Amino acid sequence: MSLLLLGAGCLGPGLLTDGTSVSVGTFTHGLLRHGARLPPSGPGYLVPPLWRARGANYTTDEMSLALQRVAWRVHREHPGGILGIADLSPPGGGDSQWHRSHENGRDADLIWYALDPQGRPVPPGDSMPRYDARLQARPPRPTPGVQFAPISPRRFDVVRNWALVRALLTEPAIEVQYLFCHRRLRQVLLEHARRIGEEDDLIERAEVLLHQPGDSLPHDDHLHVRIFCAPSDRPFGCRDQGPVRWWKKRYKYMPPAVPLAPSERVLARLLMSRYLRPADRLR
Ligand SMILES: [Zn+2]
Repeated sequence: MSLLLLGAGCLGPGLLTDGTSVSVGTFTHGLLRHGARLPPSGPGYLVPPLWRARGANYTTDEMSLALQRVAWRVHREHPGGILGIADLSPPGGGDSQWHRSHENGRDADLIWYALDPQGRPVPPGDSMPRYDARLQARPPRPTPGVQFAPISPRRFDVVRNWALVRALLTEPAIEVQYLFCHRRLRQVLLEHARRIGEEDDLIERAEVLLHQPGDSLPHDDHLHVRIFCAPSDRPFGCRDQGPVRWWKKRYKYMPPAVPLAPSERVLARLLMSRYLRPADRLR
């Protein structure tokens, strides 16, 4: 009996996990074990067909839960808007043709909420419009091998997009490392937050975490969420990279980010090895 259970739950590609999803390695060199597939739609969100067809909608259990809760929360606070969720990670994680990161379930591309000229929310479609200095939508950035649908006139929905940022930063299932976002959009969001009297703490955090990356596209067409390793994934080879500054302020809620012990480092290397990779691809 116990052998049977072992065979069903603990061997094969599931070796060395605690039975839940595990984000292994880093966002540019990683894997996703037992990833959760985000349902293609739910209250307040949908994955448009273009991204549904790619199948890169796998992520960690924590991120999947968080994205669903965040969309639901914005939907409740400001009824009518639908969040468009684009790429997460491919099944099993690893390389993809579209992204340098997104390898281990800790990156998510979210399509900005938009309003039509009458001020009504525009549901997300097969496009990722860019937003100019007047916050008006422009056609998506030409991307090799991607056929975006044409867009109707629309503008950046400041109210819902700030509600999205706030929901992400206060979501208990995840710890946000970065919200990649164009400098101009960042400024508009922060001005709105101050105007409506958000708490200083939250604004201060948003100021640091909303960030235009220096080494990739400027992110005027989507919000890119990157989260830290879930504490439960760290012993299984999840590696944080870059700043961990906000953990200091959250000592009451989360265990500290400790460096991996030597045994954990061996385990991480084993999990990343070629020997285990092909098995994961079968999932
Ligand atoms: Zn992105």
